Amino acid sequence: MEYRLYGNTGHRVSVLSMGGMRFERPDDVDAMAEIPLYLYDQGVSYFDTAPGYCRQKSEDILGVAVREMKRRRADGGHEFFISTKSNKADPKLVRQEAETSLRKLNVERIDFHHIWCIRTWQEWEERKRGGAVAEFHKLRDEGLVRHVVVSHHLDSPDTARLIAEAEVEGMLLGFNATNFRYRGDGIRAAHARGLGVMVMNPLVGGAPWQAPERFEFLKTRPGDDLVRGGLRFVLSHPEVTGALVGVRNMDDARAAVAAMDDLRPYTADELAAFEASLGENLAELCTGCAYCRECPQDIPVWKLMETCNHVLLGNPDAVWGRLKWHWSVDDVDELVDRCIDCGRCEQLCTQHLPIRERLKTVRDAWLASRPKKYGHGMPCPRRRCLPFVAVQAAATGGGRRVRLPAEGRGSYVFGVDRRNSHFGGAMATLAWPCSWSGSLHAHAPRRGSGTASSVSMAPTPNTYGDRASLT
Ligand code: SF4
Ligand code: SF4
Repeated sequence: MEYRLYGNTGHRVSVLSMGGMRFERPDDVDAMAEIPLYLYDQGVSYFDTAPGYCRQKSEDILGVAVREMKRRRADGGHEFFISTKSNKADPKLVRQEAETSLRKLNVERIDFHHIWCIRTWQEWEERKRGGAVAEFHKLRDEGLVRHVVVSHHLDSPDTARLIAEAEVEGMLLGFNATNFRYRGDGIRAAHARGLGVMVMNPLVGGAPWQAPERFEFLKTRPGDDLVRGGLRFVLSHPEVTGALVGVRNMDDARAAVAAMDDLRPYTADELAAFEASLGENLAELCTGCAYCRECPQDIPVWKLMETCNHVLLGNPDAVWGRLKWHWSVDDVDELVDRCIDCGRCEQLCTQHLPIRERLKTVRDAWLASRPKKYGHGMPCPRRRCLPFVAVQAAATGGGRRVRLPAEGRGSYVFGVDRRNSHFGGAMATLAWPCSWSGSLHAHAPRRGSGTASSVSMAPTPNTYGDRASLT
């Protein structure tokens, strides 16, 4: 196993690192814990998890493995490092989540604690403003965290801004053969500032297994498979500290370990030649270079085109989730409507992609892949997206059903089931897949089921959105 220095921390970590978000049987905690243990025995020393992974079970699984890894370390085994995260904007919740992580993981302190999932500059500002970022540093000062790091999905210019002001010791971001063009400058900037650079999705989020014929180009040497080819590309960048490989089961773990045999990174010249060939090899795919960012309508074309790759690779069902959770795009319909058909993006596109046509493709896939069971039937006030997500339904009572009798603002009928309520009112906080949220407050019968009318609604931009008025 090769080990590289994690930035300026002085720690050497294995270049093959375990990603803990894909355990295939998360409820079978003991059986799944054998996977990190196997990897530990193969020399892996960096283990990544997060509170929400695998239905909240990933940290438990790793915690079971940690107990045994501590024993093996005491018996002469190697050092290991635990990485987890918090995406909370409220500092109290950051602390609570860290305390839960410490308990579940069976560690006295978190080695690498990530300010998690910064998808836009606005999100970063919100985390700072609310005190969440400061709380990470406080936890470090109290000895509960060793290193504060950040996990993000920003492009290179925003990555450079982030690391210039974030006072973190490392970062985690997606980097692979399809997005290296718009992430490359960012990882070089981080490395130059002495940050560790861990990489997620080194295997293009599993895309090569959906369309192996398209990714044959990764196999550049005899005996290569897609895992080794993908990892070689990523680890040939000296700025990369290590790559997280998400393992579902023991077969995945063995495949990842086997890929490290005879990996032999590219020389600088080989890497340059390989990167130059990628435009050709990925001819029909968006490579994420983001040269199309000069859209006069401010449409994030590269985000939509990267997502369109999933459609082209035969996985249209991934579109809604990819846009919402990775790219923080909530309303594709509105974005595509905004296009004035100027063709500027197509002139700029390094792949000469038919972007305007693909905008429609990605919109269709987004519409088709939206969750069908999202809340209970209330469309957003702009009537552009599907039913609301009740993020905090009936906090003061047992209200469970909300329905909208007529479109527009004003009166809503709030069906409430108040059997368990001790209060005279009911409340629900709502958020829609597009960028709107609102609150419903109602007076309702104290006992039994009832319907409250004239419920007021106060629309506000939700945390995912950036628009500020109801239209
Ligand atoms: S064609 Fe549409 S998406 Fe492309 S640059 Fe013009 S407005 Fe933007
Ligand atoms: S659409 Fe073209 S220019 Fe835009 S990111 Fe993709 S490949 Fe690059």
